Amino acid sequence: MRAVDVLKRKREGRELSREEIAFLINGFTAGEIPDYQVSAFLMAVCLRGMSAEETVALTETMLRSGAILDFSDVPGPKIDKHSTGGVGDKTSLIIAPLAAAAGAIVPMISGRGLGHSGGTLDKLESIPGFDVRLDEKRFHRVVSDIGFAMVGQTDAIAPADRKLYSLRDVTATVESFPLITGSILSKKLAEGIEGLVLDVKVGSGAFMKTREDAETLARAMLSTAARMGTKAVVLLTDMSQPLGTHVGNALEVEESLAVLRGEGPSDLKVLCIRLTAHMLVLGGIASNVEDGETRAREELRSGRGLSKFLDMVRAQGGDPRVADGGALPRARARKEVLAERDGYVAAIDTELLGTAAMVLGAGREKVEDVIDPAAGLLVGKKMGHEVRRGEPLVTLHYNDPSRLLEAEGRVQRAYSISDRPSSAPELILAVLEQ
Ligand code: URA
Repeated sequence: MRAVDVLKRKREGRELSREEIAFLINGFTAGEIPDYQVSAFLMAVCLRGMSAEETVALTETMLRSGAILDFSDVPGPKIDKHSTGGVGDKTSLIIAPLAAAAGAIVPMISGRGLGHSGGTLDKLESIPGFDVRLDEKRFHRVVSDIGFAMVGQTDAIAPADRKLYSLRDVTATVESFPLITGSILSKKLAEGIEGLVLDVKVGSGAFMKTREDAETLARAMLSTAARMGTKAVVLLTDMSQPLGTHVGNALEVEESLAVLRGEGPSDLKVLCIRLTAHMLVLGGIASNVEDGETRAREELRSGRGLSKFLDMVRAQGGDPRVADGGALPRARARKEVLAERDGYVAAIDTELLGTAAMVLGAGREKVEDVIDPAAGLLVGKKMGHEVRRGEPLVTLHYNDPSRLLEAEGRVQRAYSISDRPSSAPELILAVLEQ
């Protein structure tokens, strides 16, 4: 087989065989097929798309490029959740301990933040001492002892994705439904799970800006997971404004702990209860979503979710004094960004707001950037809220003042304030099943 012939067939819009896809991806991962040929392949996929069969073949090849973890010796259903990401999305920190407290086994492998969007690993690393780089043996032990662990991807997990993603990033080929599907599912299915809840975010702070795109991605992921024998469900959820009120790494840990204590903002709480419920249904622990919600609420009310979280923090080397907020880093300075007029918050450019947190140090512009765990923002006004001129919209938390003006400008531009009363958007837009 020659790579050039496979490329030609894809360019002409023909369906590639499983063998052709495996030939290209395995050859690339092994360093035998050069970047320039795989770049051409990625662009052809972007322009021509992939059939359901091709997407499965791609995902399976990527999955099998590395290790597939085995937790079969740990009793209980192995279930995880993946979110396509956004601003203030800290649900993993809440739902993993809640689901584990209810009896699910959650071997969660997460990612880092880039651009406006945060990452679970960065949030966890704001807890002093917390280690996201557990080797396979230790990961297994923590999952087995506590019911869940939260770690980063190692070189052993889906190495094809790591190589392909670096190339996609510089060849304008990130935005392709089959490539995103292969990338997300190859990493998640390497956890050896039986069920996956997918939180596909839609709106100004999401990767998918329109409902149509979010649904297309959701359908591709559901059908690929089904063909690969993994149960999955998608919740299409709103990201036209930040989730909760805290954006930034230590701030999001603080807000997650508040929710686990039974406090915290209602949108975040509602979404976490619902996501946990779907995990429990997929795992056969709950008979339906209502039952799952009752159990999730009970894990919250009893404090079992909170103690699971703290057990996991201890097991991964973190300072358990985070429980009362004591150990978390705090920014030295605060600055309120004030509303310039009276009215109602009609819209928030959430991506812009996320980049305001990023320029303060909460996120990365480039993969190699170092983040400031204490930096971020508190969102005081959300969609539908009434505001008076001079009232704070957002409070910036920062250590480095060098880009404060820029962050303030971004927050001001992110808010659209109108004379007419507006309402908050629906939080859970749809539930899609296989
Ligand atoms: N997240 C991933 O892990 N992969 C993609 O391709 C896009 C988002």
